[in-house]
Amino acid sequence: MKIAFHGAARTVTGSKHLLTLKNGKRVLLDCGMFQGLGKDTDALNREFGFDPREVDVMILSHAHIDHSGLIPKLVKDGFNGKIFCTPATHTLSAILLEDSGEIQEDDVKYSNKRRAAQDLPYIQPLYTVEDAKKSMDHFVKVEYGNWFTVTDGVEAMFTDAGHIIGSACVHLKITENGKLTRLSFSGDVGRYRDVILKSPDVFPQADYILLESTYGNSLHDAADSTPDLLLKWINHTCGEKKGKLVLPAFSVGRTQEILFALNQLELEGHLPAVEYYVDSPLSIEATEVVKSYPQYFNRNIQKILATDSDPFMFKGLKYIKTVEQSKMLNYRDNPMVIISASGMADAGRVKHHISNSIENSRNSIVLTGYCEPTSLGGRLMAGAQEVSIFGVHHQVHAEIGSIRSMSAHGDYEDLSQWLACQDPRQVKQLFLVHGEYEVQQAFRDRLLRKDFLDVQIPERHYEIGLT
Ligand SMILES: [Zn+2]
Repeated sequence: MKIAFHGAARTVTGSKHLLTLKNGKRVLLDCGMFQGLGKDTDALNREFGFDPREVDVMILSHAHIDHSGLIPKLVKDGFNGKIFCTPATHTLSAILLEDSGEIQEDDVKYSNKRRAAQDLPYIQPLYTVEDAKKSMDHFVKVEYGNWFTVTDGVEAMFTDAGHIIGSACVHLKITENGKLTRLSFSGDVGRYRDVILKSPDVFPQADYILLESTYGNSLHDAADSTPDLLLKWINHTCGEKKGKLVLPAFSVGRTQEILFALNQLELEGHLPAVEYYVDSPLSIEATEVVKSYPQYFNRNIQKILATDSDPFMFKGLKYIKTVEQSKMLNYRDNPMVIISASGMADAGRVKHHISNSIENSRNSIVLTGYCEPTSLGGRLMAGAQEVSIFGVHHQVHAEIGSIRSMSAHGDYEDLSQWLACQDPRQVKQLFLVHGEYEVQQAFRDRLLRKDFLDVQIPERHYEIGLT
């Protein structure tokens, strides 16, 4: 068999890996969208590097758009097979893909307005809301821990990746000419002391491993320091400066983690009495989905659930649904905390809140997750003095900060722990995906020191035979 790396190769988005078996069957692992790569992003998302009509079946590790976001395009372009995932991934994908379809339609409207003025032909959206809805017909739900038949010669099993609700590592048993090959794909690996989710699970010995490497060369602050760090920013911004604290946060995972931390501060009697807003319809829906799968929560949160029926709700928290309500926040001058998507601040309502608050030193903008260096969040984190938002230049006077304790990705110790169930000498090749090249090179050196024999960092569209 062969494997080709069509995305998340020396970069962190666009996860897409295609297995081609000797019997001609093609199995696609993830079908993610490239994000935050500036003007190259759209072109990267329009070219798969393979023919969707020739893919027989797909397996989805989790619902994040950088792993699932091109599924509607895959189906639109002729893929007609099943898409296997866990039940929570199915529920989340339904809302995330529809939302993504809406974004695609909006983006094109904006570009086409400009193109019309320049007499250029219109461009089509990557896909529409309707395409997203249609693609959901292909989904098949499978729980963790059960082996299931994917296609002729391929069986698969999901284990909990502990990254977001429903996230899975994918384990394959592939039989060719009577010979068994075991391949494991990490998807995105979570942390071993997540505040809400269970730890990543152990998995059977593999011959080949595809491992994410987002934080392959760094260590996070302890996850339990999140409430303290948030409290510091709230007291400083809303208490001392009487300003607004804007927290760009991914709708799935990060938003719930922030709400959980604020709820914890309330339970301990430390939560400052200011206004708290979640301003993102998607984040609101995602929070409902997370709450509907308590069986995936860890023991810590199960204990809290015994006395607090909603660990994501506290006094002073309001959900903003309409655009009008969202705009109203711009005119309010009182101290407040605004939690809004997207996490990299490249899209969504948070962009409006940033453009509205960035020129006032009373305000603070605190990034809560990974940001591509070229994204708005990435540029702010790098210390930009001036940024352009919606084509308007802004001087950065607001305080910029980041909280590093809240990553949904494991750091190198977590990734090492994930690998600890493996005998490195039995792993023929380990492929590092989903990471920046420099980080991957340092991570490769660490893995070679841990006795892994062959660690590769494939480039995009690189194809290699597995024996
Ligand atoms: Zn992810």
